This record gives sequence, C-alpha cells and structure tokens, in this order.
Amino acid sequence: MTPARAAAGARLTADEAMALADRPLFDLAGAAHEVRLARTDPAIVSYLIDRNVNYSNVCNVGCSFCGFYRTRRQQDAYVLSFEQISHKLRELEAVGGTRVLMQGGVNPYLPFSWYLELLAHLKAAHPTIRVEAFSPEEIKGMVKLTGMSAREVLHELHGAGLDGLPGGGGEMLVDDVRHARHVSPARISTDEWLGVMEDAQALGLYTTATMVIGFGETQAQRIESLMRLREAQDRALASHGNGFSAFIAWTLQTEGVRIHGKAPGAGPTAYLRHLALSRLVLDNFVNLQASWPTMGHKVAQTALFCGANDYGSTMLEENVVSQAGAKHQATAEREIVRQIVDAGFEPVQRDSLYGIVRRPDVGALLGPAAAAA
Ligand code: SF4
Repeated sequence: MTPARAAAGARLTADEAMALADRPLFDLAGAAHEVRLARTDPAIVSYLIDRNVNYSNVCNVGCSFCGFYRTRRQQDAYVLSFEQISHKLRELEAVGGTRVLMQGGVNPYLPFSWYLELLAHLKAAHPTIRVEAFSPEEIKGMVKLTGMSAREVLHELHGAGLDGLPGGGGEMLVDDVRHARHVSPARISTDEWLGVMEDAQALGLYTTATMVIGFGETQAQRIESLMRLREAQDRALASHGNGFSAFIAWTLQTEGVRIHGKAPGAGPTAYLRHLALSRLVLDNFVNLQASWPTMGHKVAQTALFCGANDYGSTMLEENVVSQAGAKHQATAEREIVRQIVDAGFEPVQRDSLYGIVRRPDVGALLGPAAAAA
C-alpha cells in the first residue's frame, strides 16, 4: 500500500495501515489531505459555537487520567441545579451558540428521574439549543441504576429531549489498553461502548467517535481501535443510515493526574501522524476534527493539512479536559476564525449536524486586512 493508493480512496487492511504508519509524516499528511479535499468541501473549514456543561463531578469509575472526578464526600463535589445549567445556556444563546455538550461523572446518587426532568426543563427553556449529553459510561451507570437495558434508557432520554451523545470514553477501543491497571480497570468495555453507540444510532440520536493516544499502546492497537470504529460505522450506515457524525482524536493529558509518569503520552508529531492515518483508515467517516483544546492552536491549524476538515468548537467551558492539564481553555470565536483564515480556508459556523449556520464576517472579527487576504 502506497500513500498514493491510499489517497485514491482504497480501503486499507490492518496490515496495509501498519505499513503506512511507518511512512514519513509528509507522505501520510499529503495522502490524508487529498482524501479530505475530495470527501468534504475543499474551500471551507467549519467550527461550532457551543458550551460544555459538566453537571456533576461525582463519579465512581476512577479513571487514572481524570482530574475532574470527586467522591461524594469530598468538599468540592457538586451537582449543578437546573437553574445553574439554564443560566449557562442563556449565556450560550447570547453568543449565538447552538449546542450544549453535557457530561458529568457516573454519579450513583442521582435518580434516573433527575436526568429526565433536566432534559425536559432544558428543552422547554431553550428550544433552539441541541442537547447532546451523557457519554456511554454515564448511560451504563443509568442501566445499573434502573435495571433497564441501554436501549430502554436511551429511549426514555430521547423522549425527554436528548438529541445526541458525546463520544467520551472512546479513548482506545482495545480492552487490554483501556482496562490496564495504570489506565482504568473499571472503565466501560469496548463492546459496551460500541453497543451503547449502536443503540443510540438506531434511535436516531447524534453520536461522535473519540480516540486518545499515549497510554503506551502499540501501533497495532491503535489500528485495531480504528478498525473497530470503521466496522461499527459500516454496520450503522447499512442498518439505519445514522452513523458517527465525526471522529476526534487527541493525546493523553497527564499533568496533575494519577497516570502521570505511568504512561508515555504522545507529542504533536505523533498526533498529526495519527490523525492522517485515521483519515486514510476511516473511509466511511466524513468529518474529522482538529483538537485545539488539547493540542494548541498551531498544531490544530497544522491538522487542517493532515486530514481534518473541522476546527471543533468554541468550548466555552471544559472542566474534564482542562483539569487534566490542557493548556488551552476557552477561546473566542475570533481565535478559531483567525487560525482557519491564516491556513487559507474560509471559516463557516456550522451546527452539530454539520449544516452551515452562518459565514462569519471575517473583516469585523479580525480586521479588514484579514478579510482582504
Ligand atoms: S473520565 Fe469520566 S468516568 Fe472516568 S473518572 Fe473521570 S468523570 Fe469518571
């Protein structure tokens, strides 16, 4: 398998992907960029104005890479009130946002009715905001709590107003890695994570796939994880036409968390190589996001030439990643637009279904010189 054949859209086997993974970064990036230009609008890079809300930090899973979770007895454990969450959504509406991404820990002290009432409250008070909430790990927590199946839990949540699920917890879809002692032995398994996503997709909910590199996994395990996603996407598209809307990869953040010193992490070059390889392997995914909150803006901008067609979102609030050491907190739309324009693309604001919401006035945001360029 040569980069040129991969760029022409040939479906890669795992062995071919392994061979490609050893190629120089520029070969991989060039092939991935060609595929991106052919599969998505070559002139534009999209982004989303959204807000992350972490409704509770109480969690009983105990992932070693997470600096966000607390036990119920810790002083700074919290559960936000409906009004506190509503207040954050009013701020989101004020800046033209269209989506809230809501995640918390797996909090066994919240009854299932709390989630249903929260969704009903948000839908009534904020009808223009799409609510994407509760990663598969949280859904598994609700399954344990209620004794219902994941499909039944999702059906109830969907009925109360849930629009989609975040892709959190994808990390590495290889149980030997995700359940390793230094990572998270109690984490939702690969099959369970994929099963919840398949149930959600069958119900018409929006889903994304995420992946984290740097746990000490081998290249073969990274490719195995990508293959699991590609197979799941094939099944979803064939059976109900509603698969993952996007793929987002980033590197393990180790600062200030228990996994620090126990996992090698991964640097910007490894990230860019992995993103490019992902674009070539995931031939049934349309959208690949750059991850500026974890990688920084300059690496994210470079990612636009390694297979990414989307700059992610403004993320007005992101406690889970930021407390694990991401250096790049909330950013204004202006910074995202600046990076996209400087890379030579037209920025467009999208909704979470990748429809175009508006074409921002670059001159007003960055000044007339940028608009002319
Ligand atoms: S990553 Fe999620 S599931 Fe794991 S400890 Fe943190 S909040 Fe809990």
